[in-house]
Amino acid sequence: MTAPDEPMTASGLPSSAVPPETWARAHAELVEDLRALIRIPTVNPPGDEIRAARHVHDLLADLGLRPELVEPLPGRGSVACRLRGDGSGGAPLLLLSHLDVVPAPAEGWTHDPFAADVAEGYVWGRGAVDMKGMVALELGVIRRLVAEARAAGRDPAADPIPGLRRDILFASTADEEAGGHAGAGWLVEHRPEWLRADAALNEAGGVSMTVAGRTFYPIGVAEKGYAVYRLRVRGAWGHASMPRPDNAAVRAATLIARLAAPGQPRLTPVMERFLAAAADELPAPTAALVRQIADPDPATGQAALERLCAEPYRRAMGALLRDSISVGVVAAGVKYNVIPGLATVEIDCRVLPGTTEEQMRAEVERRVGPDLAPHVEVELLGFGEPVEAPLDHPLYAVLAGTLRDHDPDALPLPAMAPFATDAKHTVKLGVPTYGFSPLRNDPRETWLERFHGVDERVGLDALRFGLPVLYDVVRRYCG
Ligand SMILES: [Zn+2]
Repeated sequence: MTAPDEPMTASGLPSSAVPPETWARAHAELVEDLRALIRIPTVNPPGDEIRAARHVHDLLADLGLRPELVEPLPGRGSVACRLRGDGSGGAPLLLLSHLDVVPAPAEGWTHDPFAADVAEGYVWGRGAVDMKGMVALELGVIRRLVAEARAAGRDPAADPIPGLRRDILFASTADEEAGGHAGAGWLVEHRPEWLRADAALNEAGGVSMTVAGRTFYPIGVAEKGYAVYRLRVRGAWGHASMPRPDNAAVRAATLIARLAAPGQPRLTPVMERFLAAAADELPAPTAALVRQIADPDPATGQAALERLCAEPYRRAMGALLRDSISVGVVAAGVKYNVIPGLATVEIDCRVLPGTTEEQMRAEVERRVGPDLAPHVEVELLGFGEPVEAPLDHPLYAVLAGTLRDHDPDALPLPAMAPFATDAKHTVKLGVPTYGFSPLRNDPRETWLERFHGVDERVGLDALRFGLPVLYDVVRRYCG
């Protein structure tokens, strides 16, 4: 843990110059912005983000800004806006988010997923966590900066915001939940100026997590990539009255069992740093278990995980320590009395930083094994690079320092997401992208289960914490 360059006391925070009643008003507006966004269903597929994009566009225009909207395919809307600095501080900071959400079948929900109820201290609904909450936090910061520009007699659309030396780019995109090709991926090709920045803030990090009484804030500095394959398993067609061992479905069953084995752990530099930094802060018996998580013997690592954490953190940690393989689609057969001569198995492999597509394919072929190899073809369906952002970037120090200034118990840690986000697109423009949507959760909150889960919800207090944190990060990094 390095000491931040920033002032260590709350009094040094830009947000402490804003009166508490102003923050209270800003929080109320932020909650209403979030509720309005949840009530616009942007379920992907089909996405239909254009209504949400127009809503955000109009809100920014009403503030006196000059937002831009694109609709590269019917219904697929993304929106962006620039707030100006005086230009003396370098390239912009990008506030990146997505407008689409995953489906939310109402079964199992205690609140309508698109009603945006406020109850029991939470805003409930699909997107509250992933990631309309962050869109609302970003809009909250923009509202504040616009108000400060107006108070100084400036036109927020044309003049620099007082005290800002860099521009701020806001971009909220379509299609993140289905690869981003109609959203951030399209913008990289056709509107790179919307995204080109010194660094970006995005989802998947900055949220408190309590372990053994300590409050960690994993900050996203890396994401796993993916490689999707279709395996064709050949056998012999025949009459079901005379079973045969070269039945393609039977071969596929053997293959699936081999693919589903967890595989060897590999400790990446980010995870090594994450586990070491966490162990340093934990009491001795817990620290010893944390150090065993990445043991070269997977059984030792698994036993440590089982003593340390509950599902789904155990599964997340397992995924962060290896290139994983998940079997998704299995198909064989045309009729019960016909032995199938062909089976197909589609798998989703998630690769750690440092694993290439060629290496992942070699591992899949190793799992197939020499006995099945003559009967199995492996076809690549898609590949997304893993992503890493530097730890020594000045923005990382601002993120960690600002969290510590707001929460004296905060232990920020560099962390990796087991899934991919739009960072895989911004990285193509060379923009280091950090997972940071600051929230301080109730220690009992089972945050990871809220992603794509039932009863997705975000705490009013968590948002109350996050708004001034994000404001201070923006002011410090751009000031
Ligand atoms: Zn998301």
